[in-house]
Amino acid sequence: MDHQHHGQPLTPLERLQVRDALQDRWREQVRQITLLSLARYERDDPNGSAPFATSGQGTSLDAAIDRARARLEVLEQAMCRLDVRSYGSCRRCREPIGFARLVETPESTLCERCTREVAALNHSNDVGVA
Ligand SMILES: [Zn+2]
Repeated sequence: MDHQHHGQPLTPLERLQVRDALQDRWREQVRQITLLSLARYERDDPNGSAPFATSGQGTSLDAAIDRARARLEVLEQAMCRLDVRSYGSCRRCREPIGFARLVETPESTLCERCTREVAALNHSNDVGVA
């Protein structure tokens, strides 16, 4: 097994491993959203013990749920892309992203080099891009 190479197209076995990694992250994200939603429900329940009712924590809880949902959406988009031939190719330079990076962050649409370059561009323009 040689997974040390970067920038190689995925083998069928690697694709399966990336799918597993993606599904693990998806399940974890769903679990987190459930926990956060439960916490919010308890906060908003006037008859409950409302452990999250402390002022100032409400907005951060809502923000956390929003962030978790946005991340879930990113993962779901990646799961859709996984079945498409172009999955695993950088959307900027079209080079293979590589197994090592995809198994770590299956939602990647950019190779490592492009991610750095885009981040540098965004930083200098002060524009936020996911
Ligand atoms: Zn690239």
